[in-house]
Amino acid sequence: MAKQQQAIQAIRGMHDILPEQSPYWHWLESHARQVLSAYGYQEIRLPIVEKTDLFKRSIGEVTDIVEKEMYTFEDRNGDSLTLRPEGTAGCLRACLEHGLLHNQSHRLWYYGPMFRHERPQKGRYRQFYQLGVETYGMPGPDIDAEMILLSDRLWRNIGIRNRVELQINSLGTSEERATYRAKLVEYFRQHLAVLDEDSLRRLDSKNPDMQAMLGQAPVLLDHLGEESRQHFQALTDVLDAMHIQYTLNPRLVRGLDYYGKTVFEWVTDALGSQGTICAGGRYDGLIEQLGGKANHAIGFAMGMERILALVEQFDTAVLKPNTDVYMIRVGEQAEKMGLIWSEKLRDALPALIALKPLRIEAEQSTVNFEQLLATLQQYLNNDNL
Ligand code: ATP
Ligand code: MG
Repeated sequence: MAKQQQAIQAIRGMHDILPEQSPYWHWLESHARQVLSAYGYQEIRLPIVEKTDLFKRSIGEVTDIVEKEMYTFEDRNGDSLTLRPEGTAGCLRACLEHGLLHNQSHRLWYYGPMFRHERPQKGRYRQFYQLGVETYGMPGPDIDAEMILLSDRLWRNIGIRNRVELQINSLGTSEERATYRAKLVEYFRQHLAVLDEDSLRRLDSKNPDMQAMLGQAPVLLDHLGEESRQHFQALTDVLDAMHIQYTLNPRLVRGLDYYGKTVFEWVTDALGSQGTICAGGRYDGLIEQLGGKANHAIGFAMGMERILALVEQFDTAVLKPNTDVYMIRVGEQAEKMGLIWSEKLRDALPALIALKPLRIEAEQSTVNFEQLLATLQQYLNNDNL
């Protein structure tokens, strides 16, 4: 007899989505699709693996993602490939490759797994799902506002709007950041003693010892040029007009190099330190960085696991999977008929889906197919009540 083998388990931080959970995923995905199509967004499907250089060039070498989090490997030809840690770079790569950015604007979305070698904890996984939105060819600020209006609508539609808060900031242009950086470096120079080596290299360290010192540092929002300032003002004007509340967070920087002007995050305090459910911003500069002609781009990505974790915290009766018809077959004859009837019901009533319960009031011995069909038809006509 074969020796009992040890069972192989999934990779740490990579999760199975079990059958009882998939209805929640479908529910969220279909809400997202519906909102996206209402705003005229088209889906783009992208490879999960890209050349490592794509991420090095776009995300930037001195970032957490590229330095520590990428799943990079050599394929059999010796090329360095990477499991995508995010979708923005691949989406732009595809659009440049297929010439989609020549004098056109695009509203696109993609969906799928992303991979980052992080320390797994609740809300932080090594394989996680993002739904990303990217738009090209629009300088804004109205498209910047649309990003926020669209996401705001999705939160309302799935019932989490009162659990999330919008934070916004402007990162200005690269020239403005350069000027600001000089001011900041000067400020840090005067406070060298409290800085560790890593903080010096990045300027966005999350080291708690630095918080107080950072609190006093000059902020970019106060050093924007006129155009960036007006862009940001126009965005906040739309948000005000639409009664969308926001917090101006001058410390909101995003971890990636390629952002400029508008950045935003939707955050919640209900998920501990993994509180950002959606994050994005403008990244005009990335297009040239990846070999395209100067153009405009803004997008965001939401973390599906975190959104579902937020949804699961309150009454989710609306999500509970249910059944329209549950057929109990007793006896040999019934078993045979049950299978046939089930198929005939699927032919006659394609709209019959497993969503809500229905009691069929009939004696097993007297019910016939026509009666059953009539009852179910009536049920569907009554809007499933
Ligand atoms: P964080 O600050 O939480 O590390 P991030 O800035 O690295 O987030 P982005 O690259 O902006 O995240 O990704 C967009 C969204 O994807 C995040 O707001 C979050 O909801 C989700 N996300 C990012 N990393 C993970 C992860 N490891 N596990 C689950 N969701 C994630
Ligand atoms: Mg991160």
